[in-house]
This record gives sequence, structure tokens and C-alpha cells, in this order.
Amino acid sequence: MKKFRGIFIKNDYEISLLREANQIVAHILEELETLIKPGICTMALEERANEMCEEYKVKPAFKGYQGFPYTLCCSLNDVVVHGFPTQDELKPGDILSIDMGVQHRGFFGDSARTYAVGQVEPEADRLMRVTEAALHQGIKQARSGNDLYDISAAIEMYAQKNGCSIIKRFVGHGIGSSLHEKPELPNFVPSRMPGIPLKRGMVLAIEPMLSLGSDQVEIMADKWTARTTDRSLAAHYEHTVAITKDGPEILSTLDK
Ligand code: MG
Ligand code: MG
Repeated sequence: MKKFRGIFIKNDYEISLLREANQIVAHILEELETLIKPGICTMALEERANEMCEEYKVKPAFKGYQGFPYTLCCSLNDVVVHGFPTQDELKPGDILSIDMGVQHRGFFGDSARTYAVGQVEPEADRLMRVTEAALHQGIKQARSGNDLYDISAAIEMYAQKNGCSIIKRFVGHGIGSSLHEKPELPNFVPSRMPGIPLKRGMVLAIEPMLSLGSDQVEIMADKWTARTTDRSLAAHYEHTVAITKDGPEILSTLDK
């Protein structure tokens, strides 16, 4: 693997393995979507995700990562990221963000989305739609010749235009034979920071986290669960994206 300014540049074979890893994540997230309804608990989703990892012969990427205890991050309502699965039943109107990663033949997949549980309030629905659209605005900029912060700027502008707050504490990242590689990819343009030219072969996990209120989080006593300080709702969407000669390729989607 070649490197450019500390960033691994993947060849076509390496991207094909990343595609396989991310397709498995996408299949697992699709399956979980069919199970999410009022009355189910997120621990049941964790159990199904573990079964599917065995079926696909992949290793859950998060379990044990820096001590995280589960395969899934299940982040409910005002939890932005890194929530634990629990035995609590989901209720109509909840929104649930699930982040999932696997390691497959030495390469990582990483993707997240927010699901509505039953019928949700219009504002919750809007937050989800804005966060997903912000992700896609960012993805469009993931092309050779652009700067890394073109992605950040597109996400930031879209979130601001739609009145949602950007949770700045958590950022996207490079991904490959490690779950988190350089560069860090903020969902806003950092001041006084030089950008990095984007190049074919870079693979990025792009992951806006937005809220309807505060842009600040509080980490709970379990040392992981990150809630908005004002308990406003938050959403999280993530795709792993390869920069190819034809532009961005979303590796973690089944809509190919
Ligand atoms: Mg993730
Ligand atoms: Mg990620």
C-alpha cells in the first residue's frame, strides 16, 4: 500500500476487499432494519448482528476496540454515538442510530444509519432526512482534485442551511486495514488548518452527526454513551466511500 502524506492509498484489489467488508455491513444493517419495531430491545439486534458475523465469517470491528463491549453501537434519541445495546423495549416515536463495523480478510467495513421506530415526530423525521442528505452532499465532493475539506464544507453548509447543529466532537476518518486511519474528517471546516488534496485510492468513512439542539455532548458514566447536553435528538449516518477514477463509490450500500 502506498502512502501520501501519511494517508494509505489503496489499489484496486485492496478496494475490492474493502467493498466486500462494507457490503457485509450493509447486509447486516438491512437485516436489522427489518427487526426494528416497537417492543424489540436493542440487545436482540446485537444478538442478530453477532449471528450474522458468524454466518459471514467476519469479526465485529467494534467489540473490544479500545474496550468497547459490544458489536453494535445502539444510540437512542438524544444519544449521538457509542450507545450500548440494552434490554429496554423500543417505543413508537424513538429514533435509533446503529453503527456497525466488521473486519473481513484484513479490511474493515464501517457504516451507520438512523432508523425510525414506528411513527416519529415530524422534527425527528426531518433531522434524519437532513443528516442523511448532508452525508450525500459530502460524498459528492469525495473526488480526486478536490480538497478533504470540500467534503467537510458541503456537510457543514447543508446542516447549517437546514438549521441542524453539527456535533463537532466526533469526526469521520480514513479506513482500510485499520478501522481508523488518517486523515480525520471533520463535519465542519476547521479554522487555520491546511486541507489535503484528495486522490484516487483514498477510502474515507464519512459520518455526519447532527442534532436538533446543542452541538455539545456529555459522556455518560459508562465512559462511552455520548448524549447531547440539552437532550435534544441526534442522528448519525455513515458510509465508507472510495475515491475512484470515476468519482466517489459508496462501498457500504447495496444499491449498486
Ligand atoms: Mg461507524
Ligand atoms: Mg466510522
